[in-house]
Amino acid sequence: MKFIEIKKNCYYFNSAVNIGYIVSESRKQGMLIDAGLESSAAKKAIQLLQKHDLPITHLMITHAHADHFGGAQYIQKNYDVHTIAPSLEEAIMRYPILEPIYLFYGNFPMKEMRNKFLEAPSIFIDEICEAGNWAGWDGQWCIEFIPLPGHSHNQFGLLYNDILYAADAYLGMEVLKKHSIPFIVDAGSNLSTLHYLLNLEVKGMLPGHGTFESAFQETVQANIDVHQRLASHVYNMILVRGDRGISVEELVAKMLIKHEIEPANFGVYSLFRTAITAYLIQFIEEGRAVYTIHEGRPVIFSGQSSA
Ligand SMILES: [Zn+2]
Repeated sequence: MKFIEIKKNCYYFNSAVNIGYIVSESRKQGMLIDAGLESSAAKKAIQLLQKHDLPITHLMITHAHADHFGGAQYIQKNYDVHTIAPSLEEAIMRYPILEPIYLFYGNFPMKEMRNKFLEAPSIFIDEICEAGNWAGWDGQWCIEFIPLPGHSHNQFGLLYNDILYAADAYLGMEVLKKHSIPFIVDAGSNLSTLHYLLNLEVKGMLPGHGTFESAFQETVQANIDVHQRLASHVYNMILVRGDRGISVEELVAKMLIKHEIEPANFGVYSLFRTAITAYLIQFIEEGRAVYTIHEGRPVIFSGQSSA
């Protein structure tokens, strides 16, 4: 884990899952942005802060994915922090079993889905963040909370000193190349968020996975290209079936095979299934696809008339 200064008062701990850190002008208040996958990551980050004599008074969790708040319980148990998170996401942080539940069709999840990647230790939330400016309890901060939905239902980023901590709204280039089907829950809002980032006038951005870039536009555009390509793959698979349609399960299987993905277990499979069906739902909402229940399973057709 490397501790990197982006610019005055803006830092991050670079790791497989980045942890952001900002400090107030007075240097009396310091905020961690996300907490890493597990307590060891949070512990390392805090040790580095202490080494540099930097304070930790606040903790902001951008979205309720276990790799972003797995280390948060350790921080809350050992330090006096004011914890901030977006609505809806905060409910999952308080009841983390909701993540494996929603990934497992709403059923009580199989034991193998209750692992550190899908279910983090529970935390409490002191404050729900709202979109807009936030000054903290003593007006020391000049932070803007920005909704960045799509990868997660109500993910928020944070803008401070012209630097955007973008959470998982986009992936760094290297990570993007490795993830042939990035995780999303809503294809429409994911794309709107990416276009918003592309046009945002800031001095640089940090993704949750990747490195800080001042010239971030190329990376954001590459993310847009990947999602548009995946959406067209899904749509073509529906189109090519014509009047026969394609079942949701088969569509997911065809996408996994096309992208040479072999999920090791149901947890990993469920992440891909969620991402792939996100495109499908967008087509249905836009009227570009319809579904019918046929022989006991949902079958998808293109357009309005085929069904
Ligand atoms: Zn995430």
